[in-house]
Amino acid sequence: MKGLFQGSWTIGTIIGIPIRVHFTWLIIFGLITWSLSTFYFPMVAPDLPVTSYWIKGALAAILLFISVAFHEFAHSLVAMRYKISIESITLFIFGGVAQMKGEPPHPKAEFEIAIAGPLSSFFLAIVFFLLSAYTVGSLNALFYYLAQINLILGIFNLIPGFPMDGGRVLRAIIWQKKRNFFYATQKASSIGQMIALFFIFFGIFSLLARMPVGLWLILIGWFLYSAAGVSYQQSTIQEVLSGIKVKDIMIKEKDIVTISPSITISEVVNNYFLKYGYGGFPVVSDGKYLGIITLKEIKDIPKNAFEDTKISDVYVKHKKNWEISPEEEAIKALETMIKEDTGRLVVKEENKITGLITRNGIARYLQIMGKIK
Ligand SMILES: [Zn+2]
Repeated sequence: MKGLFQGSWTIGTIIGIPIRVHFTWLIIFGLITWSLSTFYFPMVAPDLPVTSYWIKGALAAILLFISVAFHEFAHSLVAMRYKISIESITLFIFGGVAQMKGEPPHPKAEFEIAIAGPLSSFFLAIVFFLLSAYTVGSLNALFYYLAQINLILGIFNLIPGFPMDGGRVLRAIIWQKKRNFFYATQKASSIGQMIALFFIFFGIFSLLARMPVGLWLILIGWFLYSAAGVSYQQSTIQEVLSGIKVKDIMIKEKDIVTISPSITISEVVNNYFLKYGYGGFPVVSDGKYLGIITLKEIKDIPKNAFEDTKISDVYVKHKKNWEISPEEEAIKALETMIKEDTGRLVVKEENKITGLITRNGIARYLQIMGKIK
């Protein structure tokens, strides 16, 4: 989900949580402001100046923004009570997402974190209904609209399609029953995909019946389908790697093929890359680990310079972040590699290199163990 929210801006921080807006949210902002000020407000409160409609339209869109953020804060506050930190709250075209670091410790926590969102939307619906009861004219229409929208938000999120809130509630229930977090995630994700497909089919039928809302349903269905698919995959990886330590799947020090910084590119291509079929080699001089050379660095060098270019000119210098302890969980190594955008980490124990763990190595392990399981 990380790449999904590229193109977001942080607009502020509340209780330590950065609030971010994805550019697709601006589309919703524009659509809501426009549809309310040109259709809804003139219909329910006629004979007002046009500027008044637009101001109320924009106000409604901002209050909706705050409502969605409020919903995500409700999730976040409960999560923080269970010591799960929140990286950020992002508002995008389909609503909001509170990005949590880590999973709930037990089914009860999962249930409470999930249900807090819809409950907060229902709470807002009541508040706006009350406000609309005590106001008249366009202000009444504004509050009535927000009450309806929050009610819909609450109900919609309760649909049991993981990763929506209702799907998380479902995962909590399965998790409680079967006592297996991975099984629960995979089950809830498959049900989530089925519900997403239902959205897509229903959307297609709506479009055929000339109901434009169908397009929206198709988009949401497609988004939920891929999100549930990612959750399913991640959960399978976590399951296969659970309890596996870095030392269990690393390449041991004695088996690592290292190269000297003084050899040339053409030597490394012919005697190492072509011979061993690895994607990269550690560069070592006098027993000291200097860094890594991968095909990526070689790719940018013209072929006729292969004879004259030394590895010392092109290798990537080692970074402290590319080290991991052999006792660390293998899943942590995978997360670090993804975060650091690197294919391998150096396994270090008390300043001594004991091995190398690679993405390919983990992928191979997953492939084999996933089949035997
Ligand atoms: Zn929610």
